[in-house]
Amino acid sequence: MLTVDLAAVRENYRLLSRRAAVPLLPMVKGDAYGLGAVPVARALAGESPVAFGVASVLEGCELRTAGIADAIVVFTPVLPHEFPAARVADLTLCLSNPAHVAAWTSSGGNWQLPIDTGMQRNGVDWRDAGGLRDVLAAGGQPAGVFTHFHSPDSDPDSIGVQESRFEQVLAGFASRPASIHAENSAALLQRAESRYDCARPGIALYGVAVGPAAWVPRGVVTLAGPVVELRRVSAGDTVSYGATWRATGERRIATVALGYADGYPRGAGNGATAMVHDRQVPVVGIVTMDMTMCDVTDVPCQVGDCVTLIGGDAGSSIAAVASHAQRSPYEVLTALRSRVARAYAGADVPRARGTAA
Ligand SMILES: *Cc1c(COP(=O)(O)O)cnc(C)c1O
Repeated sequence: MLTVDLAAVRENYRLLSRRAAVPLLPMVKGDAYGLGAVPVARALAGESPVAFGVASVLEGCELRTAGIADAIVVFTPVLPHEFPAARVADLTLCLSNPAHVAAWTSSGGNWQLPIDTGMQRNGVDWRDAGGLRDVLAAGGQPAGVFTHFHSPDSDPDSIGVQESRFEQVLAGFASRPASIHAENSAALLQRAESRYDCARPGIALYGVAVGPAAWVPRGVVTLAGPVVELRRVSAGDTVSYGATWRATGERRIATVALGYADGYPRGAGNGATAMVHDRQVPVVGIVTMDMTMCDVTDVPCQVGDCVTLIGGDAGSSIAAVASHAQRSPYEVLTALRSRVARAYAGADVPRARGTAA
């Protein structure tokens, strides 16, 4: 069972926004990093977000169909054949191709302008003054101008380099754009106040700290499954595929009915820990598609007991599991969308204090 704590997402939103002292544009792309874009957006709609950030027209339409009335910004460039659908759903597009901008704005569409300050992915190159002139001539003033940091988690100094490139571009605007934004989770977590008008966190909302974080968000995700078998192994016995774990003495092994088809990474074994009855237990051997083995010799454990593979404590956090599995925490989070059943907690927005029941 995968449990998503929507109250924790909301709390992370509030704390991030308060620290940054700006409103947020929460990124709910990739089905809210696998946690469910519709329930996450519904949980955050009451926080008055600047907009919700998605990656495609399809993702934007899904939110509109679910009744989300806030602005929705599609961050991946959209090609003209999708403009009619984007128009119907009243989506804001991020465009930098002058012909596309002209076509989109002539039909009344809202747009934002991405500035590429080193990511080399999309947007107007920061050195390309002519390109900037052309796109502004095609579309007039955009609703927002933004850039994206390529290494805020691994190379914090790169933020400053990209910001000075961004400033150079902004200085070329005749009047200040209505909304300027840049910071993602790693940039926000290592600085207190935002330098811009809003910020675009994704993964920190979902409980994962990335980069040299000054603050660790509250955990959102718990992945837990039942013990379906218990066995005693003797010195020399090996566990799971490839026989990568060998018992050095009598051990008691619990088999948990969750595997990598549920999103728990195959390489987490022989490093990560799980939790049973509030006690840490090592995950032993390679995680298989459907089952995972833990060494429960030192803790009371019976068939049917619940084992938490992700989110039980710091040792089983997304970041810890990802590091043991040599994966990115983004990959571990987005992989949780597979087979496993999901439950949402904290979906109801609590009444404001003092409101009559
Ligand atoms: C994904 C994304 C973000 C959020 O990144 P996190 O590292 O998850 O905070 C912000 N802006 C853009 C343009 C993105 O694509």
